[in-house]
Amino acid sequence: MINENYKVGIYLRLSREDERLGESSSISNQRDLLLNYIKDNNLFLVGEYVDDGVSGTTFDRDGFKRMIKDCELKKINMIITKDTSRLGRDHIEFGYYVERYFPEHGIRYVAVNDGIDTATNSSSNDMLVFKSAFNDMYVKDISNKLRSSLYTKKRNGQFVGTYAPYGYMKDSNDKHKLLINEEEAQVVKRIFKMFANGSSLNTICETLTREQIKTPSISKNMKLGQNNVHYGVWATRTVNDILKCPTYIGNLTQCKQKKVNYKSKKRIHNKENGWIISCGSVPSIIDEDIFNTVQNMFKSNKNRGIRGNGITDNLLLRGLIFCKDCGHTIGFRAHKQNTLKHGEVIRIYGNCNYWAKRKREHVCTPHNVKYHDIELIILNNLKGMCKKYLSEQNLENILNNSEKIQRKKEQIKFEIIKLDNLIESINKKIDACYNDKLEGNITLDMYKRTYNNLTIEIQKIKTEKDKYSKNLYDIENNNLVNNKVIVHEVEDFINMKNPSRTLITNLIDKIYIDENKNIDIYYKFRINND
Ligand SMILES: [Zn+2]
Repeated sequence: MINENYKVGIYLRLSREDERLGESSSISNQRDLLLNYIKDNNLFLVGEYVDDGVSGTTFDRDGFKRMIKDCELKKINMIITKDTSRLGRDHIEFGYYVERYFPEHGIRYVAVNDGIDTATNSSSNDMLVFKSAFNDMYVKDISNKLRSSLYTKKRNGQFVGTYAPYGYMKDSNDKHKLLINEEEAQVVKRIFKMFANGSSLNTICETLTREQIKTPSISKNMKLGQNNVHYGVWATRTVNDILKCPTYIGNLTQCKQKKVNYKSKKRIHNKENGWIISCGSVPSIIDEDIFNTVQNMFKSNKNRGIRGNGITDNLLLRGLIFCKDCGHTIGFRAHKQNTLKHGEVIRIYGNCNYWAKRKREHVCTPHNVKYHDIELIILNNLKGMCKKYLSEQNLENILNNSEKIQRKKEQIKFEIIKLDNLIESINKKIDACYNDKLEGNITLDMYKRTYNNLTIEIQKIKTEKDKYSKNLYDIENNNLVNNKVIVHEVEDFINMKNPSRTLITNLIDKIYIDENKNIDIYYKFRINND
C-alpha cells in the first residue's frame, strides 16, 4: 500500500567541487538511491528537482528554488536527499530551512545516508546542526584544496584560466599552455607603442574605438561563438591593465582577480603583490625595454591621460587632487582668456571628473576650482608644515621617535596575541560543550544556548582584534617619519623656489577638495604631538 500522506520531492545536486574531488555521487547514482528508498518505504513520488554543476555554498539554485515553490504550492510535503550536504553546505541557510522553514511548512525531511528523518525523534536528528556546520567547514576545506592545487599550477607557469588573456590563445594540445594570437598581439604592440610615444590612455581608447578594433571582451565573446556586430568601446581601464601586465614580456601573470571568499562568486581586482608571476613561461609579445619604459612612465606620471593636453600634463600637483565628496580625481583643463591687464593668459580650471563625465545623472557636484589658486595655498601650507617639522625634529628626536614607535608596535602585537589566545580558549570551551552534549551531560537546547553565547563572545573579541590590527597597519604605513631622507627633502624644499614634482609626490599623499573649495592635505610625514 502506498502511503498517500506524503507527496515526495527528491532533490539531486552535483557540484563542480564534487566532480573535481571525484566524489562518486553522480546525479543518476543519487536518483537510484532515492528511488529505492521510496520503493522500500511505499512513498509517493511527485517531483524531481535537479541542480547539476551548482555549488552547495549558495542556496540560489534553480532546482532548489523550484522545489521550495512547490512546497509553498503544497504540491510536495516531503523532501528526500542522499545526504545533508546535497541540500546545501552553507550551515546558516541550511539551519534556516531544516530548523525553521520545513517545520513551519509541515515538510518532512529525510537525508538517507545520514539517517536523518525529521518525522522521527531519532538522536541523529540532533546531529543535524553539527552536520551542517561540518558541511560548511568541508567547503572551506575544498576551497582551500582547490586553491592550493591551482596555486601550484600557477606558480609553475601553467595557465589555469578559462579564457586565454588578450593577445594569446590556448594551445589545443595542452590547455595549460599559451600561444600568441597574432591579430590580438598586433593590437597589444600598438597600444604599448602609442603610450610610449606619449599618447594618453584616452587618446589610445578613442583611436582603437574609432578604428573599430574589437575590445578584449568582444573578442572573447566571439570565441565563444557569439557573433557580435559591435566592435565595442575601449575603456581606459582595459588599456591600463594591458599596459601593466607582465604576461606580455613572457612572464605569465595570474590571479589578477580574486574571489572575495569561498561563499561569494564576486570577483575583485587583486593587488599587484597578490599576482602570481611565472617568468619566461609564455612567448613574449612586447620587448622588455619598451615594457619597462612604460612602467616608469606610469610611476612618474601618475595622472597621465586624464586630460590629454600638454599644459595640464605638467602640473605640479597632477594626480594628487581628489573630490572630497565622491573620491574621484579632479580633472584640469586649460583655457586661453583675454584680459585687459595682461593680454592673453592661460587659466587652468578643474572639476570633479565623475561629475563631468556624468553630468546628466547628477552623481556629484561641479567642484569648480582654479588650479593656480589651490597650488598657491597648498605650497604655502606645505612650506609651513616643513618648517614646523624641521624645528621639531632634530635627528635625536627622530631616533627617539622610531624607538617609541617600535615599542608601541610590540605592545599592539602583544595585545593581538592575547586576543588570539582568548579566541582559542573559547573554541576549546565550545568543543568541551559539544562533548558534554554527545555524552548526554547537557541537552541540545543548553548546547545551542552556550554555543550562541560563545560565538557572540568570539565575535566581540574579533572586532577588538580588528581595531588593533588596523592600528598596527596605520603605524606601519605612516612610518616615513623615520626616513632621514625626508629631512633632506624638506630642507631642499624650503630653500627652493620651484619645487620639483618628485619632491611633491614624496611629501604629499593626497589632496581633497570639497564643493566649497575647502582643502584637506594628507602628508606622507607626520608631526608628532605626543
Ligand atoms: Zn565628485
